[in-house]
This record gives sequence, structure tokens and C-alpha cells, in this order.
Amino acid sequence: MSEEYFWWTEEQKAISKQVREFVAENFEEAETYFWKTEFPWPLVKKVAKEGYFGAGVPKKYGGMELGPTGSCIVAEQLGRLYAVGHVFTVSMLAGLEQILRFGTEEQKQEWLPKIASGEELGALCITEPFAGSDAANVHTTAAKDGNDWVINGKKRFITGAGVSGRYFIYAKTSDDPGDRKQYSHLTSFIIERGRPGFSLEKINPLIGFDNVPNGVINFDHVRIPDKNRVGEVGKGWNVMMAGLNFERLIGAAVFGGLFEDVVQVLFNYTKRRIQFNRPTLTFPGVQSEIADIIMKTKVSRLYTYYCAHLLDEGKEPMIEASISKLFNTEYAREIGVKAIQILGGDGLTKFLPIERILREAKVGEIVAGTNEIQKMIIYRFSAMLPLFNKNLRYRWNDDVNAPIISTRDSKFQGMDLNEENVLKVIAHDYKVSPGLYMTPDDIREDIGGSRSEIRKILESLEEKKLIVSNKDRQGKTTLVKASYDGLQKAFPLSYYEWYPSWYKDSDKF
Ligand SMILES: Cc1cc2nc3c(=O)[nH]c(=O)nc-3n(C[C@H](O)[C@H](O)[C@H](O)COP(=O)(O)OP(=O)(O)OC[C@H]3O[C@@H](n4cnc5c(N)ncnc54)[C@H](O)[C@@H]3O)c2cc1C
Repeated sequence: MSEEYFWWTEEQKAISKQVREFVAENFEEAETYFWKTEFPWPLVKKVAKEGYFGAGVPKKYGGMELGPTGSCIVAEQLGRLYAVGHVFTVSMLAGLEQILRFGTEEQKQEWLPKIASGEELGALCITEPFAGSDAANVHTTAAKDGNDWVINGKKRFITGAGVSGRYFIYAKTSDDPGDRKQYSHLTSFIIERGRPGFSLEKINPLIGFDNVPNGVINFDHVRIPDKNRVGEVGKGWNVMMAGLNFERLIGAAVFGGLFEDVVQVLFNYTKRRIQFNRPTLTFPGVQSEIADIIMKTKVSRLYTYYCAHLLDEGKEPMIEASISKLFNTEYAREIGVKAIQILGGDGLTKFLPIERILREAKVGEIVAGTNEIQKMIIYRFSAMLPLFNKNLRYRWNDDVNAPIISTRDSKFQGMDLNEENVLKVIAHDYKVSPGLYMTPDDIREDIGGSRSEIRKILESLEEKKLIVSNKDRQGKTTLVKASYDGLQKAFPLSYYEWYPSWYKDSDKF
């Protein structure tokens, strides 16, 4: 039984039990659709009847109002029903967060009850032939015609293509290079199945997604009313980004239940599989691999619900949602590989529900922004955090005769601001951090003075070849270091010498 975290509400705990029971009752049926490669319509209808599609929809619009955490709880369990889990998540992602944040009251009243009822499925349509990771490079156009919009273009890799009734799309509404630069060239719309000119072009045969249709949809002069536009014209990128954190989180949560199923299969199987007169469970190597899978299962689940909690609180966890998605999909691949290895040949057959997780994991590493893109987001957003941008100053500590990160003033503080002393500051930095450059602000912090005074002195020192510098594209000095001549001029050689106490004088030269 999965852990119910202490911060979950009573309602969330109750839904967790309820949906788990639902999955237990319907697991066998889900398997039959997998074997028949048939879209599980009757099961999807059952999920709808239970009201699970409304997990994240506020009660006043017909939902359960369980927030992102509640949506994860439901997704985690429904994910164990494979195809059902995929269409459940994608149906929520096709508008829920976007309409909640950017929709008008009329739009909320029109669309949220539809999402909650699950009577028709939703599809999220970002990707195009020329817009993959570069999701802003949308070619599908939306042109205003009176009070309508006319849509032309194609979207590909759309999960739930064909079976869905509601398509949440992003289209280009401006060709102005200025708008493109500002990411204000996109607008989001909802398009219903059945609109003239809107058709299903292709269904992709894929590595995973056995009985989930995924394909290309075509818009040939599809006319929709302005009331189907979500958010302001030109704000589609913001709508897309707001939806993506939720998408990544749900995409991560969906693996949680599968991981636990894998562990159950592994214990069950290895207790009963005898090799060398012993159950394979007794081999230390097998135990170690199962322990590794359990560790990954627990860690990834905890982080997923931490991230869900941040979203519950109305935060924008860009970094956390990306980490969660990256973590869970990579872990899913690693868990899949390990689990198959533990099960030997049986693990490779479709008779055990294990090989699937490996295929699903590979899909997971690509959808909702590839894992390389997640790393890009984690890096870029982290690089802006003050926490990671502290100016760490190493100062020479005479007591221990070593450089230590310190908040003490530099020993050059209060000295006259002239070339000789600035060179000393820079040369001293060689003793402290031999391989690193200093910023002009580091120098200023050490000796004082104004930026322009320091800049002038640095220019002069560089002309005399006493320092070397690194410059930005505008030719402005960003980093400096003492040259060999500069080091010689600033201090005697003995100033830079350093030997451990055990080093013999006789070995020095
Ligand atoms: C099964 C499945 C279901 C999907 N469902 C949907 C859906 O419902 N709706 C939807 O809109 N889309 C969907 N997608 C599309 C999915 O989101 C894209 O496939 C994904 O964003 C990657 O785009 P791409 O396939 O065009 O790869 P590309 O963008 O062409 O990337 C190819 C490779 O280049 C790397 N790369 C690209 N740019 C960079 C960079 N700047 N730095 C480092 N590496 C980079 C990528 O990481 C990748 O390894 C689905 C895809 C699949 C396979």
C-alpha cells in the first residue's frame, strides 16, 4: 500500500484509497485491452463515471477540487492501467490548468464541467513537423476573420488524436519579428472535433503507447468563434508555459504506481524462481538490485508530491517540475532495465507487465519536453537564483596558512588606490586561487574605489602586460589575472611558495 503523506488532506487520502480499489477491480480488464491493442473506451467511461477526470477541477465547475496533489494521486493509480492513464492525464492537460489560469468565467463554465465529466477526451496540441523542442516555432496559423478565427496547419505526435473531442492548440497570430522575439506571436484556442476542415491525418505506430492513438491532425481553414480563444491574443506562450509545469508533474506522477507494481512482480517472481537450488531472491546481487529499485521508487515519489505541494500553493515550480519529470522517466528506464535483468528471459516477454515500463520510460524521456530540455530549464532557472550566485571570496588565513572562504575584509582594504596596489591585489589572488580570474568588482571589494577608477588602472596594467584579461562582446573587461611579469613585479617569488610541513627542505630548490 502506497504511503499516504501526512500533508495530504482527508479528502486526498480518501480518494487515494478509492482510486486504488478502482484500479484493483479493473486491472484485468485493462490488460485485455492491452492484449487486443484496443482503445479501452468502456474503461475510460467507467473512469469518467467515477468522476476522476475532475480531480483537479474546482467543485463549482463539477469537479473534485483535489488540486495538483489530488490530480497526481489519481494519475499515479490510473497510470497502472496504462492506456487509461495516458488518456486521463492528457485529457486534463488539454485545458485544465490553462483555462483555470487564463480562461474567462464563461469559458470556465463552458469547458471545466466537460473536462470534469470525462464524457469527451481532450488532446494537447503543441508539437508540429517543424516545432518540437523549439515549441515556439509554431507554423500553424490563426487569422482573425470578423468574430471568427481561421486555423491552418498541422500538429503531430498528438496523444489521443482521433478519440478526443476537444483539442487545445497553440497557433501563430503574428509574423512580426518583434513579437516573435518577445514570444508574443502565439495564441491558444480550443477546437472541437467535427469542425469542417478539421481532420485526423495519421496514427503513428510507436515503441510504447500500445493501445493509445497518437498521431497527426490537420487544420484546413477550420473556422472557430473567438470565444474558443483562451487567454489574450499573443499570450499563447504564457498559457503554454503555465500548463507545462502541471504537465511535467503529472507525467512524472503517472510512473509512481507502475514502480510499485514492478516491485510486487519482482518479489512474487523471485520467491518462486529456483536456480542453483535456491530462489533467485536469495542471491545478494538480486537483493541489491531490488533495493535500488525500491530506493528510486520512494525518492521519486516523495519528490513528485513535494512538487505537487508547491503547485497546490500557487507557486511556479519550473525547476522542481523539470527535475520531477527527468528523475521519474530516467528512473523508469533504469528500473525497467534492472527489473528485466532480474526476471531473465521471462522479463523480455509480454506475458509479464515489465518490458512495457521500459518502452513507456523511453517515451517519457521524450514527451512533455525531452530530458535534455528539462536539463536546460533546470540549469537556466537555477543560474538565476541568488542562492547559486553568491560571491564566494577565498581569503588567505595566516593561522592555518591556507585559503578559506571568508567574509573578512581583504588585507588590502584601506590602501591607496594606485597601479602598484591593484597589481598586488590581483597577484595575491594567484596565491589564493591560482587558476581563477577576478572580476573588476572583486578587486573593488578588496581595495575600494570607484568602478571607473579601477577600470582605468586595469587598462593601464594591461597595456604594460602586467595583467591579462577576458572581455565581453562589447570589449568590456569582465575578468583579469596577473601575467607572469605582473606576478614577478608584485611580490618576491617566496610570497607564492607553499609546502606541506612533511616536505623536506633538502628536496626544495
Ligand atoms: C508518444 C509521444 C506522445 C506525444 N504526445 C504529445 C502530445 O500529446 N502533444 C504534443 O503537443 N506533443 C506530443 N509529443 C511530442 C513531444 O512533446 C516531442 O516529441 C518532444 O517535445 C520532442 O520534440 P521532437 O520529437 O520534435 O524532437 P526534437 O526537438 O527534434 O529533438 C531531437 C533531439 O535534439 C535534442 N535537442 C533539441 N533541442 C535541444 C537543445 N536546445 N539542447 C539540447 N538538446 C536539444 C532533443 O533533446 C532530442 O534529443 C509526443 C511525442 C511522443 C513520442
